[in-house]
Amino acid sequence: MLANALGNDPYFEDKTVLLIDKDAKKTNDRTWCFWEKNEGDFDPIIAKSWSQIHFFSEDYAVNHKIAPYKYKMLRGLDFYNNYLNNIQSYDNITFLQDMVTGVVDHKNYVDVTTQGREFRATRVFNSIFDYTLLHQQSKYPVLQQHFIGWFIKSDKPIFNPENATFMDFSIPQKGNTRFMYVLPFSETEGLVEYTLFSAVTLDEQEYENAIKKYIKENLKCTEYEILEKEKGNIPMTCYNFSAKNSENVLYIGVAGGWAKPSTGYTFMNTNRKTKELVAFLKKNKPLSSFSNKDRYWYYDLLLLDILYKDNSKGRRIFESLFKGSSPQLIFKFLDEETNIGEDLKIISSCPRSYFLNALFNRMF
Ligand SMILES: Cc1cc2nc3c(=O)[nH]c(=O)nc-3n(C[C@H](O)[C@H](O)[C@H](O)COP(=O)(O)OP(=O)(O)OC[C@H]3O[C@@H](n4cnc5c(N)ncnc54)[C@H](O)[C@@H]3O)c2cc1C
Repeated sequence: MLANALGNDPYFEDKTVLLIDKDAKKTNDRTWCFWEKNEGDFDPIIAKSWSQIHFFSEDYAVNHKIAPYKYKMLRGLDFYNNYLNNIQSYDNITFLQDMVTGVVDHKNYVDVTTQGREFRATRVFNSIFDYTLLHQQSKYPVLQQHFIGWFIKSDKPIFNPENATFMDFSIPQKGNTRFMYVLPFSETEGLVEYTLFSAVTLDEQEYENAIKKYIKENLKCTEYEILEKEKGNIPMTCYNFSAKNSENVLYIGVAGGWAKPSTGYTFMNTNRKTKELVAFLKKNKPLSSFSNKDRYWYYDLLLLDILYKDNSKGRRIFESLFKGSSPQLIFKFLDEETNIGEDLKIISSCPRSYFLNALFNRMF
């Protein structure tokens, strides 16, 4: 996204940009979903969108129309093909497939070492993410959004293609925050994803058994084909990612802390941050000054503190949230666009004692 934004903006015409990735980006290694009002930048390559979402809990179920929002889905491979194609059309950008082994900021320039070569740059945007840094500190809890999803095709209609299941908490929680996420593409094809917000990942078999059980018991289907699988792990933490930035090196994407700590949603945040970054680069300031903490960071921190201390509380919190607020307000809040009155409405719909205790523990 950033390389494309730089190539697309005449302001950077006299800059030479090298985009290095160890991978050729020729596989559909992920599916991105995000909500958005009306039309957006990615509409030409969106694979499917939904105007209604389901939320389920043990004894609560709701189906919401989400207008003016839509929940949109973009296949990774469509994004890579489209964006790499654009990037190739810019004379000042080169794509190189190589493994980066070192990035050193020498103040006046940055040295980048790859397996095969060395490069010198004035500015480097680094999206190499390393979990070990997060685990070397204890100030901020580190949870993970971890999941396995199956793209399935059934022999009879089992899905309603108009409704995406945003979170289904009716499944056994086993002391964690566990939910099923279902994206139906047609009556017979869809993605069924077993997701946790927790500190520790599971054995692969446990995710797969849960998906099998859900397809059989909840979707009432026994005859189906698995077309593809996806697997992911997104950090959920308020760790200060920007501490690693220097005058000429800025960490971006998940590595820059652009994943929303409380949800793991990163894609649209990256789109917004990329626009902010392009405007910031025109001011010619040190890259280390690009970032700021705001009140949403504190809200995320409190939620993560609660879920880290007692991971079973997630179901109750998300259930209260969806009972007390419209999905439109929840999306606005997660997009960090609400006013203080709206924040209070959202927060007061959640179990207050959990958040007051977490606030008290952070303050004292
Ligand atoms: C399966 C999956 C599904 C997701 N779904 C959603 C979703 O629905 N909505 C949402 O908002 N977010 C989602 N996310 C989270 C987030 O949007 C993605 O992880 C997103 O791809 C993050 O972008 P990024 O640029 O930080 O990292 P990446 O997209 O992972 O890009 C980093 C790049 O760096 C390259 N690289 C790494 N190390 C090196 C090295 N040493 N040298 C050279 N290249 C290197 C990698 O090959 C990769 O191409 C998902 C994540 C996963 C894994």
